[in-house]
Amino acid sequence: MDKDRDYCFLKLYEQLASLTQTVNQKPEIRQIEKILNEISSMFRLAKGVTHFYKNPGDEQRGVGETMISYDIGAENIKPVHTVRFVTKLLAITTMTVYMTEDEEQLTEEELFKVDLTMRTALAFISRNRLQVMAEELAFFDDMGFRNIRSFFRFLAWNSKPGDFNGMAAIQYNLRHFALVNEGYGRSGGDMVLKNHYKYIENLIGKGCMVSRLGGDTFVCVCRQTDLPELLEYLDDAVVLANPNGKTVNISASAGVFKIPDGYTVGNPNDIMGKIIQAYQIAQAGENGHIVFYSDMMLTMKERAKKIGKMLPDALKNNEFHVFYQPKVNINTGEICGAEALCRWFHDGQIMSPMEFIPILERTSEICKVDFHMLDQVCSHLRKWLDAGKKAGRISVNFSRRHMANPYLVDQIIEIIDRHSVPHEYIEIELTETTTDVEFRDLKRVVEDLQEHGLCTTVDDFGMGYSSLNLIRVVPWNVLKVDRVFVPLDDEATDSARCIMFKHVIAMAKELGLECIIEGVETNAQVKILRDFGCDKVQGYLFDKPLPIEDFEQRLDMQRYDID
Ligand code: C2E
Ligand code: CA
Ligand code: CA
Repeated sequence: MDKDRDYCFLKLYEQLASLTQTVNQKPEIRQIEKILNEISSMFRLAKGVTHFYKNPGDEQRGVGETMISYDIGAENIKPVHTVRFVTKLLAITTMTVYMTEDEEQLTEEELFKVDLTMRTALAFISRNRLQVMAEELAFFDDMGFRNIRSFFRFLAWNSKPGDFNGMAAIQYNLRHFALVNEGYGRSGGDMVLKNHYKYIENLIGKGCMVSRLGGDTFVCVCRQTDLPELLEYLDDAVVLANPNGKTVNISASAGVFKIPDGYTVGNPNDIMGKIIQAYQIAQAGENGHIVFYSDMMLTMKERAKKIGKMLPDALKNNEFHVFYQPKVNINTGEICGAEALCRWFHDGQIMSPMEFIPILERTSEICKVDFHMLDQVCSHLRKWLDAGKKAGRISVNFSRRHMANPYLVDQIIEIIDRHSVPHEYIEIELTETTTDVEFRDLKRVVEDLQEHGLCTTVDDFGMGYSSLNLIRVVPWNVLKVDRVFVPLDDEATDSARCIMFKHVIAMAKELGLECIIEGVETNAQVKILRDFGCDKVQGYLFDKPLPIEDFEQRLDMQRYDID
């Protein structure tokens, strides 16, 4: 072997050694292949084949991976040298090199160099393969799906601001998947899962990821541009369930977080927390099976916590004020009463009931607020009666959360009597109920209140489901029709809304119920209502709910000018 060739080999070998020993950086596989090719041709080799076996048993049976690292495509070749490498974990890598039969044999020195090169390459290959194997164990589950560790690693790798620009994260669950397992057996179920997974992987493409959290629940990161197609697939997909071509329809419940530009994943749980929140709402199904995360979801939860904490002090410090919205007779313009509506004054701000009542209703804390409101209304009424003002009947809202309280009516009467207010000045507004138990309670409460001479109103009539039965079976005094039922200004008199409205009014009259229409905003509506024979209304056309001083002024005025 001449000096130049010797030098050339040393140079190549040096490069190979340094490339294959890089520990932290990803080695350049291409470059390694190139060097191996050059060395192979330098030594007149025709082919190089590598085998990888996970264990000696696999090697004996010949089941492993085969990699051809070099091949000049010659036919009559014979093996000239084999190197076998066994790792501590008993994984085995072998490499065999071939020459054509008519090629000049390797000299001893050449064989030494070839052997050295093969050992170096093999050590590298086997280390690399082991890494892949370890990776498979750590980041894939038993069905070959990426697992949650894989997902978290993906999030951690993309943790710079902007890494997720234009991306979305999704958690989803295949609905009623147990039925697929039942109908097609375990293997059918597995096949559906695999085909589904493969489809999603293809759809989202490179740079994205889907992994299985367990069972039939998955998480996925995809491009927002692919989101419509993906969600359509999740909503209703046809998936192959057995090799004979049988298919099943699969739909999913999904929580989606459209990642805003510039978003940084501080902690992988940030994103997980958001998609889980949306996913839980999706699972409940009340807002459809695909739910997008919005910041409101988190603030709702935080608000609920905060409001619960603030409530005891707010009650003690009289932060809940009564606002009065006048009720008006549209034939005369006279004020015939008012509805008491709650406003929370806190830190110089007014909170509307929509911000806190739904939250307080979840824990029945609302009941304390309702009693507090009634107490204030009674004290105002006493004051007005003493001053000779004609206030009319004031209605107070009571949440249906009270219905389970067997002492409710006693407690209401106790408050009214404590202020010596005649019972006919108080009206209790209740909304319809959804369950049978609540319905029985509601009926009992209404009957009891009436026995005590209090007026009862069914509020928000027209919003719910059980409406007709509710007014037939429970002996209400007043029917308060929600504004969704009120005909619009220019609505045709034969529209469904108009016809229903007309019938509701006629039915109420037949049952001897007083009617009041809420949410009246225009003179045109007043005219229509008059035509329909309604005489009492409440709405912005006359006044919004007013602070007590303003309402007292209206009482002094006594009537509105009407067209
Ligand atoms: P609600 O009992 O149906 O009260 C009527 C709501 O409609 C009030 O909203 C009122 O301001 C609004 N409104 C009145 N006229 C018009 C109009 O012409 N146009 C429109 N767009 N809206 C009108 P508010 O005061 O925000 O109260 C919202 C809801 O909060 C009430 O609905 C009631 O369900 C609840 N709420 C208020 N105060 C209390 C309370 O003291 N106790 C309980 N349990 N619930 C209360
Ligand atoms: Ca009401
Ligand atoms: Ca209402």
